[in-house]
Amino acid sequence: MDPRKRAELLKGWALEEGFDRAGVARLEPSGTGEAYLSWLERGDHADMAYLARRVELRLDPRSMLDGGARSALCVALQYHPLAGDSAPEGDLWPWVARYARGLDYHDLLLQGLQRLAARISEGFPGCHSRPYVDTGPVLERELGARAGIGAVGKNTNLLDGEAGSWFFLGELFLDLELESDKPAADLCGSCVACLEACPTDALPEPYRLDSNRCISYWTIEHRGEIPAEVRPSLGSWVFGCDICQEVCPVNTGPEPRNHPELRLTAERSRLDLAGLLTLGRDSYVETFRGSPMKRAKQEGLQRNAAVAMGNSHDAAYVPALGSALTSGSDLVRRHAAWALGRIGGPAAQEILRRRLEVEESTAVRGEIRVALEAGGAASG
Ligand code: SF4
Ligand code: SF4
Repeated sequence: MDPRKRAELLKGWALEEGFDRAGVARLEPSGTGEAYLSWLERGDHADMAYLARRVELRLDPRSMLDGGARSALCVALQYHPLAGDSAPEGDLWPWVARYARGLDYHDLLLQGLQRLAARISEGFPGCHSRPYVDTGPVLERELGARAGIGAVGKNTNLLDGEAGSWFFLGELFLDLELESDKPAADLCGSCVACLEACPTDALPEPYRLDSNRCISYWTIEHRGEIPAEVRPSLGSWVFGCDICQEVCPVNTGPEPRNHPELRLTAERSRLDLAGLLTLGRDSYVETFRGSPMKRAKQEGLQRNAAVAMGNSHDAAYVPALGSALTSGSDLVRRHAAWALGRIGGPAAQEILRRRLEVEESTAVRGEIRVALEAGGAASG
């Protein structure tokens, strides 16, 4: 079978396995290697050290298979809009990035790619393959672009004229010769809507994401304390941020796709910000089983919930923050203290004063003192 027919056959199988789109990328050294190295050198990857590991492999994906990979079958799975889905309500889920409201896409894509790999090895005995989804040394967007899945936009997402940018990417590396697809053409033109809309200036220039300023980085990847000067910039976001995709004119709304696993379940949708902040360990495990939000860990999600509450300036959150100030981890107590200071008012001040009398952690005590001052100023 010639490489063109083989490519068409395999892309058809990918669609049969449930993927929404598929394309083939030729494997060769990266065409954007220098840009990636400059991005690392500038420190735009923040403290995500894993992005600086195994750079040679990232820049030359042919070594993804021991005997040498020859092509990558790239697949896309749309997570928004979804058939039967509706916009979430309340104070939590609208502030969780769309991709993270359902089941973990890693598992979903990997399972689909493994089924696809099994079918290919049956149809092409002796063929070797390796599936890949997000967690390793692969420049996925570049491969997706080469495979015609989309063109990299100025917001650094892959954009397709019809499908927009609300989709996951996965790849199956193969030692089969396949005819590659044509790379997609640029869709941004003179548009700069995402650069202008980013609330933290994390897109300082086209096609460059500075993770140090990105809400997604702070709420998902960053561990430990969020610096006090950064907290206000996170606004209401609890996990991720969709702004630079929401404003993109290419995202005019593709046809909804039927991936019920990626929808927010009715049960999970009942959780609100106060519920998240005060969730016990067992309930956390139960609620977030199979969710990509576990990436931030319980402590990280509760830290983020406290920050979102502080940024709301809403006194209705004072009781939940008071409870977190008593029973949360050190990290959560510190952010709860900050939020109470930001909200201010007599009730918040009283809770902070009472906690200061019994608090043993020096770091939390320090945060409470700062909050009392800030809260006094806010109340005055
Ligand atoms: S995800 Fe949000 S913070 Fe990050 S670049 Fe996009 S708009 Fe800016
Ligand atoms: S908002 Fe405009 S500039 Fe940004 S990715 Fe979309 S089309 Fe490109």
